[in-house]
Amino acid sequence: MDHIKHLKCLICGKEYATDEIEYICPDHGNEGIVDVRYDYNLIKMRISKESLAKNKDYTIWRYKPLLPIAADAAVPPLSIGWTPLYDAPRLAEKLGLKQVWVKDDGRLPTASFKDRASAIAVVKAQEKGAEIITTASTGNAAAALSGICASVEQPNVIFVPEAAPPAKIAQLLVYGSTVMLVKGTYDDAFELCLEAAAEYGWYNRNTAYNPYMTEGKKTAVYEICEQLDWNAPGVIFVSVGDGCIIGGLHKGLKDLMALGWIDQMPRIIGVQAEGSAFMYEAWRDGEDVLTKAPVSGITVADSISAGLPRDRIKALAAVTETNGAYISVSDDEILEAIPALARGVGVFAEPAGATAYAGLIKAAAEGLVSSDDRIVVLNTGNGLKDIKSAMKSVEMAGTKASRVEPNLADLKRVMAKL
Ligand SMILES: *Cc1c(COP(=O)(O)O)cnc(C)c1O
Ligand SMILES: [Zn+2]
Repeated sequence: MDHIKHLKCLICGKEYATDEIEYICPDHGNEGIVDVRYDYNLIKMRISKESLAKNKDYTIWRYKPLLPIAADAAVPPLSIGWTPLYDAPRLAEKLGLKQVWVKDDGRLPTASFKDRASAIAVVKAQEKGAEIITTASTGNAAAALSGICASVEQPNVIFVPEAAPPAKIAQLLVYGSTVMLVKGTYDDAFELCLEAAAEYGWYNRNTAYNPYMTEGKKTAVYEICEQLDWNAPGVIFVSVGDGCIIGGLHKGLKDLMALGWIDQMPRIIGVQAEGSAFMYEAWRDGEDVLTKAPVSGITVADSISAGLPRDRIKALAAVTETNGAYISVSDDEILEAIPALARGVGVFAEPAGATAYAGLIKAAAEGLVSSDDRIVVLNTGNGLKDIKSAMKSVEMAGTKASRVEPNLADLKRVMAKL
């Protein structure tokens, strides 16, 4: 892996060789998140826009020379990546905008964005010969790890809060993971998972602890820019919990700038739920994310419930360094965005996915975007992940099913009333 220069601590700046530390800079407890730094001159000799144009591998592995894995690394067989980027003219028109696209990562194998990161975790764990992989998760990272592990028969142990939506827990059980339902919050599950990994020597996938997760997540912006013929969008909307996705998007864009494949850095707009708005508050008030106290983290959008965002250093930089912004939206705005997005472009999102669109609605109303901005909204999770919230969202929208006797006469009676 000569294309990796070093791992750089984002707190103290210390640089480590990849075999020197496994996850974090040891000088800051569990907080010393590091960033993978590459040799772009070397990478440029191995991959180019032209080589990509001829590459028929439409998965994240088409970008292998830009990923923290060996050129000959075996990769899991599930088809991860190259999700559709839909043109959404009706959404754009409704908001007084010219160009909106929706990237649908609800289409990935386990139905969330997390597949991009968990795929890298499985490759890295197998590189190390790990017997067991573990993660804590609000649900989707776990489902992603679980599914990808199943595809390569890799044993794994998962820690999720016991209140995780049943669909996500079902995924874990169906894929055959060892599942620990933690009687507590995601933050409690995270701490327990770290302790368990240290105690048993398991390979740890945890977000913002394992530095390679960012590297998987960045593939989404490679795809967006390639799907737009390397004409980068002006603004990207993404929901934020721990901040690993937003940090990953920023990382991918920095890679593309360093390679000279795009010539402008898009503004990144992070959208949080009001009850879990640590990053929004820190950004708005200029607070230090390393010393700011945790928030409650309560929101209907379970995937972005994070009292203390684990990847807060990268998450803040993604917005400040791109002239972006943080926005917070209420749970009602999130739920209203589910049918609005589904009806406007045909993409059914879970609450955390629809949060990004709720953010665009607010940004358009507040003039945070201008009418000729080229805008991408990222849907991070499929709506079938959380049926309870979906049903609540249509109830709020006043949409009801009709009950009808199985005969045409009764159908006519019902139709006349619609
Ligand atoms: C994990 C997740 C997010 C947020 O990602 P972070 O890296 O925690 O900020 C958003 N949406 C969905 C559906 C997710 O699963
Ligand atoms: Zn350090």
